[in-house]
Amino acid sequence: MRTGFGYDIHRLAPGRRLILGGVRIEHDKGSVAHSDGDSVLHALCDAILGAIAGGDIGELFDPADPQWADADSRIFVEGVLKVAHDGGWKVGNCDITIIAEEPKLSPHRLQMRQNISRMLQVPLDAVSVKANTNEGLGEIGAGEAIAAVAVVVMVKD
Ligand code: MG
Repeated sequence: MRTGFGYDIHRLAPGRRLILGGVRIEHDKGSVAHSDGDSVLHALCDAILGAIAGGDIGELFDPADPQWADADSRIFVEGVLKVAHDGGWKVGNCDITIIAEEPKLSPHRLQMRQNISRMLQVPLDAVSVKANTNEGLGEIGAGEAIAAVAVVVMVKD
């Protein structure tokens, strides 16, 4: 059994889409990113790679590569899972915390968990998604960025 940790942050700007955990969320701002800017899935990818010492998401999916422009981050999760599966690892469970001042994320948590549970091929109760504010502090607190942290346990098949 191995544990991995992942972190990601994206700036927010008007006129961009906000997608977290594969859920499109209505907001007046969205992620500034080369891909779809889904911090939740990016943190999750890095946690999976961290557990198996498989590098990081930027190594697997070069952010300068035009083929990942506006890419659906579920593609990254699939790619990372393939690396894990090839190494004989499968996901045991994951625990994710999103740090965002706004919008309210609680109405979207179940949908995110369902998406991630499907992507990782684990039961719903093996996927935790929590949300927290940054108490008004810094850029996240000012609503200018959203960050996510993830912990994953990988189990040898
Ligand atoms: Mg990212």
